[in-house]
Amino acid sequence: MNVLIIGSGAREHAIAWKLSQSEYCDKIFVAPGNAGTSEFHTNASIDIHDFNELAKFATDFNIMMIVVGQENALVEGIHDFFQESEYLKHILVVGPKKAGAMLEGSKDFCKNFLQKYSIPTARYQTFTEDTYRNAVEYLKNHTYPVVLKADGLAAGKGVIIAQDFEEAIDALENMLRHRRFGKASSKVVIEEYLVGIEVSVFILTDGKDYVLLPEAKDYKRIGEGDTGLNTGGMGAVSPVPFVNEAFMQKVKERVIEPTLRGMQEEKLEYTGFLFIGLISVNGEPYVIEYNVRLGDPETEAILPRIKSDIFEMFRALHDHTLGEYKLEIDPRTAATVFLVSGGYPEGFEKGKEITGLENVPSDVLVFHAGTKLLNDKLVSNGGRVIAVTALADTMDEALAKANAAAEAINWQDRNYRRDIGFDLKGMHA
Ligand code: ATP
Repeated sequence: MNVLIIGSGAREHAIAWKLSQSEYCDKIFVAPGNAGTSEFHTNASIDIHDFNELAKFATDFNIMMIVVGQENALVEGIHDFFQESEYLKHILVVGPKKAGAMLEGSKDFCKNFLQKYSIPTARYQTFTEDTYRNAVEYLKNHTYPVVLKADGLAAGKGVIIAQDFEEAIDALENMLRHRRFGKASSKVVIEEYLVGIEVSVFILTDGKDYVLLPEAKDYKRIGEGDTGLNTGGMGAVSPVPFVNEAFMQKVKERVIEPTLRGMQEEKLEYTGFLFIGLISVNGEPYVIEYNVRLGDPETEAILPRIKSDIFEMFRALHDHTLGEYKLEIDPRTAATVFLVSGGYPEGFEKGKEITGLENVPSDVLVFHAGTKLLNDKLVSNGGRVIAVTALADTMDEALAKANAAAEAINWQDRNYRRDIGFDLKGMHA
């Protein structure tokens, strides 16, 4: 069976790598892909927002399954588009339809859903330009810090944690009045700031049954010690030591099960991954966000821990047999470190030659993100460039291996965090 993966990050490279281990997968195409995905798979240079172009490609190359790595295509309705066509509906799309993708596409929709189905989350209210004055009043009476979120997709940049009233008003004005994030900030969610430790939980679900994937913790800030600006993610670790059985039981009962109930009641016809961003507040799980696809860099840490054939898992998703599906998980720890361009997440230069990949030990996985081939040379082509993942019996060993691999890969001004996972050291389930 031929498969098409949508996206160009290390997440999509990891999905392609994992799917290529399946005896059921013939050709794997990645649209648009990167230099890493072109090595063992085929890149398809198509505009992923142009569904007609994707449909033509799928027909020409006999694609039977589409795995959507990134959220925009889902929010834009890629699944609905394929399902609604007589000629395309036989293609299995891993990723929810537009209605389900709203769980990520609109923070107001998400918070409403959480509240309606009594899923623990921070207290909140949503405001628009018309209710600007009410938002100011709300902020006057709020405790600080307070969190302001642009309603729509803002590539991880639409969340401001304001330390005081002035900062909050500034953010509010920027979002609602100056449309800092365009249409995405025509509504703003203002919510209570929760103090705790974050963890990402992933399921694959058909809206009724689900398979629980390994959990992960990601590191969003650019600087060591979790300082500086937010990035797409600088590294990840899986499993997460503080996630014990008691915590997971609470997550299942208070979060996952009511989420599936809500999906059914709202008729979201969900088929795909659901990434549940949680914060543990004194051991109690609260939902920070849903994402309707896998995370990046979490995917690079969790897929190497899955021993099962994920193609079979995708088939079970579409056959509605996930309830009987047993996922086999490697108990070892996976540590992922992301190498990024100097200056990222602000201005950075591209086109720098990448060297040293040959010095990475063969048991360390290398997933490309912003890379491309230029005159047969591998060069940087984005902010986040390469993720390395090491597996080992202990977290310390996995981290040491991943850091050593990161050190071996180089280009002018490359940067990476040397403290991924350090905050988890000594923590036990
Ligand atoms: P991303 O795209 O990076 O996943 P996002 O833009 O969808 O993020 P959120 O995940 O809702 O936005 O928030 C981003 C980050 O802000 C969270 O990972 C968390 O660290 C912090 N955050 C969000 N809401 C809260 C909250 N209520 N209390 C404390 N921290 C929060």
